[in-house]
Amino acid sequence: MYTGSCMYLASTMRNPTLFLKEEYDQLVRQELDWKLRILQGPSAPWCIVDGKKVLMLCSNNYLGLSNHPKLKEAAVEAIRTHGAGSGSVRPIAGNMDLHMELEKRLAKFKEAGASLVYQTGFAANSGLIPQLAGKGDLIISDELNHGSIIDGTRLSHAERTVYKHADASDLRRVLDEAEKASPSYNKILIITDGVFSMDGDIAPLDEIAELGAEHGAMVYVDDAHGEGVLGEGGRGIVSHFKLGRDKVQVEMGTFSKAFGVVGGHVSGSSDLINFAYNKSRTWLLSGSHPPAVAAACIAAIDVLEKEPEHVQRLWENTRYFKKALEDLGFNIGNSKTPITPVIVGDSGTAKKLSARLFDEGIFALPIVFPMVAKDKARIRTIMNAALTKEDLDFAIRGFEKIGRELQIISGAVTA
Ligand SMILES: *Cc1c(COP(=O)(O)O)cnc(C)c1O
Repeated sequence: MYTGSCMYLASTMRNPTLFLKEEYDQLVRQELDWKLRILQGPSAPWCIVDGKKVLMLCSNNYLGLSNHPKLKEAAVEAIRTHGAGSGSVRPIAGNMDLHMELEKRLAKFKEAGASLVYQTGFAANSGLIPQLAGKGDLIISDELNHGSIIDGTRLSHAERTVYKHADASDLRRVLDEAEKASPSYNKILIITDGVFSMDGDIAPLDEIAELGAEHGAMVYVDDAHGEGVLGEGGRGIVSHFKLGRDKVQVEMGTFSKAFGVVGGHVSGSSDLINFAYNKSRTWLLSGSHPPAVAAACIAAIDVLEKEPEHVQRLWENTRYFKKALEDLGFNIGNSKTPITPVIVGDSGTAKKLSARLFDEGIFALPIVFPMVAKDKARIRTIMNAALTKEDLDFAIRGFEKIGRELQIISGAVTA
């Protein structure tokens, strides 16, 4: 009879939701839980965070576009003309003229055959990668690629392997090995971040593109942190290296960083785009952008095309800030971009540095294990075009003062 064993089961069965609290409590004990700060107002050079006025040094809003009057006006106007929402997914009834115009404008900006806009960059990677490679194929990733690439790769039925970070000769080794595999792979897809978000270094995309061409592999670059930053007028990493689209077939990016809004995108040949929107499940099965988002993204492209000064100022500020931190004796790693890590070693020091900077009116978050190696804890700063020289000097003085206080750099503590 079942009754006895049921009673036994019931008496020993655990609360099915207990793990929620247990796992959360464990994160809190290990200090790995996210303590969310609250931004009260726009993402601007000076903003209010948790009720305190601070200088923003950790936003991805590189060019200050998220609060640019042209973007805001375009968003408001689109709400007036098209409403608050799109009403559907794109393949059914949610494909607005604004979405089509945005893709046309983006393709022109990227000098690509065609572009496709996804809801987010995460949706682009997780929706497209598993379609590009499947059973019998191989995906080769840089070991430090973004989590959305990792998840997209996991959703694929392809075999996966990694090469050493930004190391073209290790990629060559992996490709040579793949060539000898038996049975041979049908397709090989190489995927890399363009700019790596934790260190600010740039992928050797020129060498990767060459290797891809030599081995008949497709090359996919995620340029989330390169757009609005690298290349002519902020056109991104493909422009930066002046590469042909025959060698970098998939250029993926996002409107959520330098473009200042939200949305993922892919650019390449029209064959790629026709394939992508017919196959990507994230694109087919998830609602399209509200009109305000599409219109603000169009306005962001307008601003990039008509106001080149934002990208110029971003680089002037980046050079000034990096040099000052280096002169003070900080370890700013191997960054070649406006992402400037201040590497301090252990996570406790990184957290203390961030907290003390916040007291001084500087907002920069610590990045610790497991996002970076245990002994490479850091504050990650992201430079911004909208900062004035006075703002930069304020930030530099703050780093100097707290850096000495915590003995990260030498020298007497200044007042
Ligand atoms: C931010 C980021 C993404 C995700 O983009 P969203 O549009 O914010 O979803 C993807 N890849 C990289 C490298 C990123 O830095």
